[in-house]
Amino acid sequence: MFENLSERLGGVFDRLTKQGALSEDDVRTALREVRVALLEADVSLPVARQFIKAVEKKATGAAVTKSVTPGQQVVKIVHDELIAVLAGEDGDPGKLRIDSPPAPILMVGLQGGGKTTTTAKLAKRLKERDGKKVLMASLDVNRPAAMEQLAILGQQIGVDTLPIVKGEDPVAIAKRAKTQAGLGGYDVYMLDTAGRLSIDEELMAQVEAVRDVANPRETILVVDGLTGQDAVHTAENFDNRIGITGVVLTRMDGDGRGGAALSMRAVTGKPIKFVGLGEKMDALETFEPDRVAGRILGMGDIVALVEKAQQTLEAEQAERMMKRFQKGQFNMNDLKMQLDQMIKMGGMEGMMSMMPGMGKMAKQMDGAGIDDKMLRQQIALINSMTKKERANPQILQASRKKRIAAGAGMEVADLNKLLKMQRQMSDMMKKMGKMGKGGMLKQAMR
Ligand code: GDP
Repeated sequence: MFENLSERLGGVFDRLTKQGALSEDDVRTALREVRVALLEADVSLPVARQFIKAVEKKATGAAVTKSVTPGQQVVKIVHDELIAVLAGEDGDPGKLRIDSPPAPILMVGLQGGGKTTTTAKLAKRLKERDGKKVLMASLDVNRPAAMEQLAILGQQIGVDTLPIVKGEDPVAIAKRAKTQAGLGGYDVYMLDTAGRLSIDEELMAQVEAVRDVANPRETILVVDGLTGQDAVHTAENFDNRIGITGVVLTRMDGDGRGGAALSMRAVTGKPIKFVGLGEKMDALETFEPDRVAGRILGMGDIVALVEKAQQTLEAEQAERMMKRFQKGQFNMNDLKMQLDQMIKMGGMEGMMSMMPGMGKMAKQMDGAGIDDKMLRQQIALINSMTKKERANPQILQASRKKRIAAGAGMEVADLNKLLKMQRQMSDMMKKMGKMGKGGMLKQAMR
């Protein structure tokens, strides 16, 4: 699926991970090669650019662990970024919303993209894996052969198709499918709309009319993965006009360069749910970003190694922090670590609620309920302080406060809020320190 890209990246990272020490230049050179590899794989330019920028940023900010080389660390960052670009934020691969039966699924796409084949493949999957009773209907009234094709596939996989009635228009067929699905106790009915060779007004108007009567739970665009960026443009067009909920990329068994898969989510915001891997009825796979990223990079052992080292590092940091807390110490470095952690754990309350006795306190504090954006702004404020200031924030004078706030693109008032938060936390730690070991637990039991 991604052989060429995989080979190219493999070459870049083999060289990088074999080196012991890495200069910033080494990393930059490697990333430039990664960028070229992405572009050659037909990843869209803005996506490739964004990708490299994100990796660069993370590579410079990454905590250094002794047990892995910088090159290995870069591999892990690229791996994570690949997953991010493939998955987006709420990727739920392979899941279709088919609650409230009969659930309509609208299949859309250009002619020849594999829409009819994919409709049948999906129906088979729903039937076999999810035990659903599925009805398929072809709406391609201009191409009787296409209607026949769906009927034949239906027979082959043992899934019912709506009987063909000559002269009926697509909207009428959609209505009949809905009625039939209700009467027949079907869980899902799939509408295989007509395709054309290119996007035109008539096609869009027709699909729109069908969408309006069917009110689909899922609108799945089927596109040929071999067409690269064209596939992404097609998706944009369909999404703008019809509104799609997911994408199936077909012909991923071919020697496509993979760019469509890598750009789709970033450009359209819509997840790739499945990939087609052949003409046979079971040649359909769930699109799993982490597995795909693994396949593209082919460096699973290095990724695992770095993950392990990171876990160790985090455990060490946590232990060091606990020791400081017990002594009643809590400066801006501690706060920054907490804020980083909070972003990972989903906000202040999410984190505090995990610490015994802290749930209530979190609600009482100024910082309660702060969101991701605020957390990042606060981190930016801390980042614009000097090392000395971070360790001893009480030394900050008005002029420095102004500079720091400006440096982070914020107001002095925001900085004061942050300082207050740090003081509150510090006080809290002191109290707890006095209570001695187990103090937190005692408090929690009250
Ligand atoms: P439609 O016009 O969009 O409905 O396209 P069809 O479903 O008729 O598919 C067109 C051709 O592509 C058929 O010969 C399919 O067997 C073939 N096809 C569909 N999906 C795949 C796939 O994932 N891989 C390969 N190799 N061929 C596919």
